[in-house]
Amino acid sequence: MHVVKEGLEEDSLWDSEFIRQHDVAGPRYTSYPTALQFHEEFTHEDYLGAVGRSNESRMPLSLYVHLPFCASLCYYCACNKVITQSDEKKRRYLDALIKEIRMKSRDFDQGRPVYQMHWGGGTPTYFNEAELTELWFEIGRHFHLVDSERGEYSIEIDPRTMTADKLGLLKGLGFNRISLGIQDFDRKVQEAINRVQPFQQIEELMMASRNYQFRSVNFDLIYGLPYQSVASVRDTINRVIELSPDRISLFNYAHLPQRFKSQGLLPEEALPLVEEKLQILCAASNQLIDAGYVYIGMDHFAKPTDELAVAQAEGNLHRNFQGYTTFKDADLVGLGVSSISLINNVYCQNTKSITEYQGLMEKGDSPITAGVLLSTDDEIRRAVIMSLLCQNWLVPSQIEEQYGIVFGEYFFNEIRGLNCFVEEGLLARQGGVYNVTSKGRLVIRKICMLFDIYLPQHMKDGTRFSRVL
Ligand code: SF4
Repeated sequence: MHVVKEGLEEDSLWDSEFIRQHDVAGPRYTSYPTALQFHEEFTHEDYLGAVGRSNESRMPLSLYVHLPFCASLCYYCACNKVITQSDEKKRRYLDALIKEIRMKSRDFDQGRPVYQMHWGGGTPTYFNEAELTELWFEIGRHFHLVDSERGEYSIEIDPRTMTADKLGLLKGLGFNRISLGIQDFDRKVQEAINRVQPFQQIEELMMASRNYQFRSVNFDLIYGLPYQSVASVRDTINRVIELSPDRISLFNYAHLPQRFKSQGLLPEEALPLVEEKLQILCAASNQLIDAGYVYIGMDHFAKPTDELAVAQAEGNLHRNFQGYTTFKDADLVGLGVSSISLINNVYCQNTKSITEYQGLMEKGDSPITAGVLLSTDDEIRRAVIMSLLCQNWLVPSQIEEQYGIVFGEYFFNEIRGLNCFVEEGLLARQGGVYNVTSKGRLVIRKICMLFDIYLPQHMKDGTRFSRVL
């Protein structure tokens, strides 16, 4: 069904007063249901059932590979990672990962094409050239990776572990997208977070990435770090614009030292206060938009010519655990410690403990320790939430057609909420379609939360979700 977006403002001007009024703590919906619904009663038979249905569907595959090691600790980090200098530890993990690749690849029909693969961490590029090559070829031997022209192959890069030559190797292997962890260019901020990487180093990598013709370069930036101010972040964004990455992710730093011990090493007195953080976010976002970037949603910006922006304009954008993507119809196979798979109507996750993961793989057992089988209601709600997040609209007739429901009856209670959002200016209703307005996009999770049936229970349990601030 072709839907024309009408009545939406072209630009998305960030308004601090508006965000202050409407921002709520809530899930980021890289999945629905969220990982909070994964449970340990999920069995290997549940997984095999999903794989069987997936093989029948003959849908393409997407791979996520988790490489958890880092050379040193960035104090703000909340990722599942292991700091080590030991080559032996990395080798033992790589051996376990290769076993999992061989084991899981046998579950899926040979010949199912892989159109998308992402290596995340930790620091994937902390592995040396020989190890990265070995891993790529091991995956290529067991899964059918389509050629680099048609596939989307991306990797997260810590610039401190990267050289122009190593970048050439990645391109030679088949990666065509890279994501650089920048965070902030200010030296004082970099020292405070224990991640010093000179501008010149990034500049050289950018030149190399252009020479090697990577299809897309993403920068990860963070706001809310110690010593950041509106002025200092403006300088960082100016330098980012100068380097001209295709995509930018601007993440909120959430200070939770009780949960993530290393965050206690940050100079707390130097953290920007909530009001200043809000000013930083709005100023930085407006600066990116003035420079020609398009706000995709949920922390992400892209050049209008980038595939993400084009896919969003055409109504073909999707979202998974890696964020936004242009691939919809693929089952996601997670490989490595803590990785999550989405296979047919099942989410399942490998153990988060590296010791347990390696032990299971050495015995040849399944590393999956939690998951959830989606009900039809989960699938309907997921379709609604993903449409709001990715396409910035909700077309009830599409949902009715897809799931054989009467939207007004099925979502009788939610419709009242939608109408309130229309009154508040977060949505615009036209011809039976709810379009998310430019303002609504700034607080999109508030709209999505209306359809999350599990949220009231999590709120009652006191689960802490992130906010924009
Ligand atoms: S390199 Fe990335 S994963 Fe590793 S400690 Fe730093 S932020 Fe965390």
